[in-house]
Amino acid sequence: MLCSTGGVPAAEAAQSSAAPKPQVSPPADAAKAAAASRMQLYQQISATTGIPWFRFAAIDQYERTIAKKGAAAEENSRLTAIAVPPPIWSGPLNPNQQDTSPATIGFFGGLGLDGSGDGIADSSNDADVLYSLARHLLKYGINANDFSIGVWEYYHSGRASQRITQFAKLYEHFGRLDLSGNAFPLPLGTMYSYRSTWGTGRSWGGARIHEGTDLFAPHGLTVRSTCYGLVETKGWNRYGGWRIGIRDIDNRYHYYAHLTGYDKSVSRGDVVIPGQTIGWVGSSGYGNPGTQGKFPPHLHYGIYKDRGMTEWAFDPYPSLKQWEKQEYRALKNKRSK
Ligand SMILES: [Zn+2]
Repeated sequence: MLCSTGGVPAAEAAQSSAAPKPQVSPPADAAKAAAASRMQLYQQISATTGIPWFRFAAIDQYERTIAKKGAAAEENSRLTAIAVPPPIWSGPLNPNQQDTSPATIGFFGGLGLDGSGDGIADSSNDADVLYSLARHLLKYGINANDFSIGVWEYYHSGRASQRITQFAKLYEHFGRLDLSGNAFPLPLGTMYSYRSTWGTGRSWGGARIHEGTDLFAPHGLTVRSTCYGLVETKGWNRYGGWRIGIRDIDNRYHYYAHLTGYDKSVSRGDVVIPGQTIGWVGSSGYGNPGTQGKFPPHLHYGIYKDRGMTEWAFDPYPSLKQWEKQEYRALKNKRSK
């Protein structure tokens, strides 16, 4: 399926904090505060432009997930991660690529506008950036389809457009920014076993490293979504058999392979939540559609992170261990209440 060089990306970048604070707060609180401030900003620009907040949130989140470490908003105390390249902000032929004058930027066909009301079109001012993007998007119309076209016209990338459309759908569906929370892909307390199998050789289909973890389990055991996400792919794949791919809000693609079938509630484009049944363990794959039984039944689970130009596979084993532990703990707490 997705190709990968097998590199392991760095851990998730920490969220930026909203504003300098007198005391150091725990990262979770800082992230919460930053998210609340971002939501306020999206809604403010939404009120003046008519573009729903979740579309701003989707663009912002997309840029956050593909941002290079250190180049992100954290460094200049910005709330959003949206970085408009200077030639697009100022206009490609503008001799002043740092231009902040709405008049000359307009003359050179740049995107930059003043959204904060200070008369300056500043590409490092979040209100200016969101407002400028909104005005660009409004040229294409206001419905979801127009939005996807406007996004494509801005990024000139089908992948960016697809991701942002997916994120907008997730934010709109849940009505909030926080879509964290995970579940173990198999029901706890059932017969399954897994170990770290990252990078070990695989026999079928040539020299590919093993990009995932195999969870051995009885045929027909429930397979559950590990995250909040959107069903991106569903159907047969020569390697994975009946497989399903789910995109989460952190731009990770969760891949579940060798299923025996899918839950009928799950179609491409559908929203799923952690713990939701998506299919059943099987042994499909390694051949033409319908091939099964070439290996013992198991769930192959992989995670791929989209970095804009590349997609990296990373070892899901530590996450699986963590989700399993968290779920056991939650179950225990429930019982003791
Ligand atoms: Zn596998």
